[in-house]
Amino acid sequence: MPCLLALRCEIATHSPHESAVDPKRWAIGANPAALRSLNPIRRAMESMPTVQGRGKKPISLTLGDPCAFGEIKAPQVAVQALTDAISGFHYNGYSQAAGIYDCRSAVAEFLSKDLPYSLSADDIFMTAGCSQAIQFCIGALANSEKPSNMLLPRPGFPLYQSFCNLFGVEVREYDLLPNSDWEVDLRGVERLVDPDTAAIVLCNPGNPCGSVYTPHHLTQVAKLAGKLRVPIIADEIYAHMAFEGSKFVPMGAFASHVPVLTVGGISKRWFVPGWRLGWLSVCDPDCVLKEAKVLDAFTNLAQMHLSTCTPIQAALPKILQNTPQDFFSQTLDTLSTRADLCYERAQKTPGLSCPSKPRGSMYIMIRIDSDKFKDLRDDKEFALALAKEEALGVLPGSAFGFPGWIRLLFAAPETILDESWDRLEAFCTRHTK
Ligand SMILES: *Cc1c(COP(=O)(O)O)cnc(C)c1O
Repeated sequence: MPCLLALRCEIATHSPHESAVDPKRWAIGANPAALRSLNPIRRAMESMPTVQGRGKKPISLTLGDPCAFGEIKAPQVAVQALTDAISGFHYNGYSQAAGIYDCRSAVAEFLSKDLPYSLSADDIFMTAGCSQAIQFCIGALANSEKPSNMLLPRPGFPLYQSFCNLFGVEVREYDLLPNSDWEVDLRGVERLVDPDTAAIVLCNPGNPCGSVYTPHHLTQVAKLAGKLRVPIIADEIYAHMAFEGSKFVPMGAFASHVPVLTVGGISKRWFVPGWRLGWLSVCDPDCVLKEAKVLDAFTNLAQMHLSTCTPIQAALPKILQNTPQDFFSQTLDTLSTRADLCYERAQKTPGLSCPSKPRGSMYIMIRIDSDKFKDLRDDKEFALALAKEEALGVLPGSAFGFPGWIRLLFAAPETILDESWDRLEAFCTRHTK
């Protein structure tokens, strides 16, 4: 037992000198990086009053939870696959840290259908929701020994900012252009990149914009990132949730120009965010990331969490292979109708406008034309007053780094959306000049 002895010896020699301790004070200080890592969506939510304006029934179109209204249910095959995985007693233990081999293979096969090359199980890491895949990407690419920065979209999903803060990565925001279907401001990206840039983040279909990028635009972004020698983190949690004639194409399809780390999962498309299953796929046909040891970093990060929930991993191959196409086409029809409803009402509501119809995901960004309002100076005041007066919750654009706008979840039943827009219209009529 030489190791144990050595350890004891070390403990003995390093025991703190008693006089160094101040007996009146606890040596506790919360990590400033953790305190800076607050998720801005949660912050916006917490500053909202409990909505109950004028005795109306509260409606919340704030959080991106597709289950919030309970009417669209997860497909039966998913429920059955999970039930089977649990009742068989084979999946109560830990899995390999990166995930169950068969599960990773199934994800690789599923994603490869849309790619010009094939992924293997070794290119996939299973995670606790897409959020943890985001954490892994930022954690693996952040260099803690020298300054590093990442380019995030503005407006964008705020969790990226939180993880950058936690890992000490400087955030640089590039613009998405509302009058050009929220496409990337390519020149802005080029201006912001420097030798310390560790990644460019792109979300498609977009949260909060509801945008779906064309293959042409994705190629432009991939070529630019390739030229600048910066990998892309592609957030595709809304993969295939595209409608209005638009089609989803994964960023990984352009990985011959630039290495791509794709994060995804079943939360949104299968309506099960509470199941907490996501993945990270390494689209790196030229092995650039592998040579830079990024995959080793993922393995280490995965091992720190021991394992992702095993019954859900065990159920995943069946979920991916057997979910009926009808389930997807029906939910997309439903979402498309609701996006239309919101887009049309936004055009008719005084003081509001929406330059770009949503073509995917579950959100619409609406501009507040502030010069038309008598009071309400900004998006936060707008959201706060709307909650107080009309018991309707929406998120201020500032939660996504985009003041002057609001974001609405449109995955709510039509009756609820109609009622929400009636309230918005009454509210805006009252507050505009
Ligand atoms: C909801 C969402 C996530 C998180 O997904 P989980 O699987 O629930 O962790 C990640 N990225 C975007 C853009 C999202 O909207």
